[in-house]
Amino acid sequence: METPIQAIERPDADECSDTMRVWEALHGVTDPEIPVVSVVDMGMIPSVKLVGGRIVIRMMPTFAGCPALTTIRENIRRAVELAGFADVQVEAVFDPPWTTDRITVAGRKRLREFGLAPPSKTCGGGVDEALIASVLCPFCNSSDTKLESIFGPTLCRAIHYCDACQQSFEQFKPI
Ligand SMILES: [Zn+2]
Repeated sequence: METPIQAIERPDADECSDTMRVWEALHGVTDPEIPVVSVVDMGMIPSVKLVGGRIVIRMMPTFAGCPALTTIRENIRRAVELAGFADVQVEAVFDPPWTTDRITVAGRKRLREFGLAPPSKTCGGGVDEALIASVLCPFCNSSDTKLESIFGPTLCRAIHYCDACQQSFEQFKPI
């Protein structure tokens, strides 16, 4: 006898296991600009709640006015619906603003593996050129790097050059 697939009906599920399933689904949703890092590892999801049968996901957009926002919101909704939730609401949160300090340790590791230097932590101190310039090479981990261009292929990336392994690399700029 085949076991019926129970995607929507889970009478024994409590709120915690529901929200855990949502978090699992969110781990599969990536920022279109950085396909290796999930929205969770980007620190974009401050909360997931079950409110009267509806899943309410708060999402902090990474960059204000980013054209990818609609795409990310749709991708989140679709992933959570596929995990078996019919009523999903994704709320954008702009206050407090997202900053690169929210990127998790796992997210930073994946950025490096992708060849993209993770942003230096601002620790609330603001961003200046010196902070952007002080970055470790994602290939050889050397600090012997210099800032080549503060604007890379996209606004959120800077280009650096590593004197140790003589390669240029991109950095996800701190904000
Ligand atoms: Zn290097």
